[in-house]
Amino acid sequence: MSTPSLLILPGDGIGPEVMEQVRRVIGWFDDKRGLAIDVSEDLVGGAAYDKHGVPLADETMAKAQEVDAVLLGAVGGPKYDNLDFSVKPERGLLRLRKEMDLFSNLRPAQCFDALADFSSLKRDIVAGLDIVIVRELTSGVYFGEPRGIIEEGNERVGINTQRYTESEIERVARSAFELARRRSNKVCSMEKANVMESGILWRDVVNEVHQADYADVELSHMYADNGAMQLVRAPKQFDVILTDNLFGDILSDCAAMLTGSLGMLPSASLGAPMENGRPKAMYEPVHGSAPDITGQGKANPIACILSFAMALRYSFDQGAEADRLEAAIEGVLADGVRTADLLGEEGVTPVSTSGMGDAILAKLDASL
Ligand code: NAD
Repeated sequence: MSTPSLLILPGDGIGPEVMEQVRRVIGWFDDKRGLAIDVSEDLVGGAAYDKHGVPLADETMAKAQEVDAVLLGAVGGPKYDNLDFSVKPERGLLRLRKEMDLFSNLRPAQCFDALADFSSLKRDIVAGLDIVIVRELTSGVYFGEPRGIIEEGNERVGINTQRYTESEIERVARSAFELARRRSNKVCSMEKANVMESGILWRDVVNEVHQADYADVELSHMYADNGAMQLVRAPKQFDVILTDNLFGDILSDCAAMLTGSLGMLPSASLGAPMENGRPKAMYEPVHGSAPDITGQGKANPIACILSFAMALRYSFDQGAEADRLEAAIEGVLADGVRTADLLGEEGVTPVSTSGMGDAILAKLDASL
């Protein structure tokens, strides 16, 4: 692969603080592993609004369409709460997702052993957990027509429509099967085929794609309500969970809490393959801009660093280096190094945002 390109959009609040640590990690891979990445940087969210009067400038959008991957920090903050809806910081994020057509949202739920006690579930149920939820992101009940609130007789009726075309199901199913092949080769597809026609079609299309091109991947199906139960009963039975927009919204938040802290959760949103065969991609931590801790050195940079690890794995074909980075993070946590969001146990070492960056770089050095 020629030098991969990455557009960094730090955004607002703690976004720039956590991104600073990612930049150090990128520098480490360049210096010590000869992994050059063509990094460019731009504004998004409130920071872009302050400069351009819009939460994402057209030139930034154009750049995002050209690079191999986008890495975003976080957007939003109280300063922008009263802006018109059309220029709110979140609109910048939505524009990126929409114009890049990022239909496949990957939310890993990974529980590092050292943090198993932060989960609301028992240690043995979550320790070592490593699953990914693939959520369809651009269709389904959040977008289907007709929608609205209408008058019917003497009362109002709220309407939303769950609608999926075969091609929408097919492309996200392919994304889940491709992902499974890079992991433990297992997909569990979740819908409500027992009560919803869209669920019946979902199951049919997933089976067809599987038989045609991915018969080597182990495929199972589960009703989404049972899936929610199984996620809290025995989450380690899963590898990749494939589901629609609505169920994915709920199941991914549920799975996220298995792992403890918002400061630990990365995500990726993938689109159609580009000319080089790799999908369009945006990586971002799940957390927001955390205005309550901005500027205090308290932000945990791990979610953003793990998002970069996902970029290494899924956009830059550097799975072994992604493993190295994840192992370094695991090692730091095992040593008891903790940012403020992860305090509470005896005998741990509290560190600042940059202190966590130092510890991760030291572990990376030790991995050589
Ligand atoms: P938030 O995720 O910013 O914060 C929720 C809580 O988690 C806060 O107490 C915060 O201090 C803590 N937290 C979050 N990330 C952390 C980290 N890395 N390290 C340590 N603690 C962390 O959610 P919120 O408070 O509901 O929203 C704040 C702003 O962020 C709002 O403007 C919201 O619209 C925006 N937001 C943006 C995104 C995004 O950019 N993708 C996502 C969610 C919220």
